[in-house]
Amino acid sequence: MKAVGLVSGGLDSSIAVALIRSQGIEVVALHFTSPFFGRKAFLEGVMKRLGAEFREVQVGEEYLEIVRNPRFGYGKNLNPCIDCKIFMLRKAKAIMEEEGAKFVFTGEVVGQRPKSQMRDTLRLIEKESGLSGLLLRPLSAKLLPPTIPELEGWVRREDLLGIAGRGRKAQFELAERFGIEEYTSPAGGCLLTDPIFSKRLKDLLDHDAFTLENVELLKLGRHFRFTPWYKLVVGRNEGENRALLRLAREGDFLFFPQGGKGPLGLGRGTAGPEDIERSAQVIAFYTKNDAEKTAVIVRDFSGTSRVLEVPKCQENVLESLRIPKG
Ligand code: SF4
Repeated sequence: MKAVGLVSGGLDSSIAVALIRSQGIEVVALHFTSPFFGRKAFLEGVMKRLGAEFREVQVGEEYLEIVRNPRFGYGKNLNPCIDCKIFMLRKAKAIMEEEGAKFVFTGEVVGQRPKSQMRDTLRLIEKESGLSGLLLRPLSAKLLPPTIPELEGWVRREDLLGIAGRGRKAQFELAERFGIEEYTSPAGGCLLTDPIFSKRLKDLLDHDAFTLENVELLKLGRHFRFTPWYKLVVGRNEGENRALLRLAREGDFLFFPQGGKGPLGLGRGTAGPEDIERSAQVIAFYTKNDAEKTAVIVRDFSGTSRVLEVPKCQENVLESLRIPKG
């Protein structure tokens, strides 16, 4: 008997794997990664210790559509949790069929998170994923109607759990019982639940610039929107300056103080002379000197450079450009 489980790196999904494994069922543990939630390096080892086969499923472009246009809306930030779960479960269903596995399970706990883990929503997610009757939530199973795996005796319902709500005490005891030592916090580091990241993402959506390349830029630096067609990202340290340089692509502008000491700016989009001048002023603002004017090099992607002597951008102007504001 084989089952497919979804594992995030959080404690609950690892406990779900342990519970299913403890019933002698083989487990293929799927770990989804996307531009918004990355690989948890420790998880492969955890799954190995629990005797499950670990498999990473990378999603890119197709996931952007879920974020752009979620059928069931967003959570508190730009996290489309219901659509996201349906998306992952549909993929899990396809893998279940390929693998000749009998059912899919997750670490969801009834009532643990707003909206996406309420009873009605769990039912909706099950139906929309095409897994009706074949989706088991081992941690809350006793509080939910029996699934086919329980009715058919593939899993022993009496050995599953009836956990509900936000409390973590039961999970910590189970972690100890199963020897699970490494796990992330419940939100699991999904950038879509981060308020600042979400506001920057909203800016991309509003300006029709929601692409994988632009999403990568959101993970770095300070962001400034000049016009609907142009924005500037400014590195906050050496590491970010280097990362911005790596992400530069054809059509981008680079800005840095002459002499090299200070921030790197990456301008993306269609920029007029005023936008270029203002970008150089923002770089001057973040360059440590007391001079009235700063020499800022502007380089376009063809490698052509020029030097602009500019004053520092005024703080109120800078704040009016910042994403998110305030
Ligand atoms: S928190 Fe992120 S990864 Fe988790 S269900 Fe929501 S959108 Fe998906």
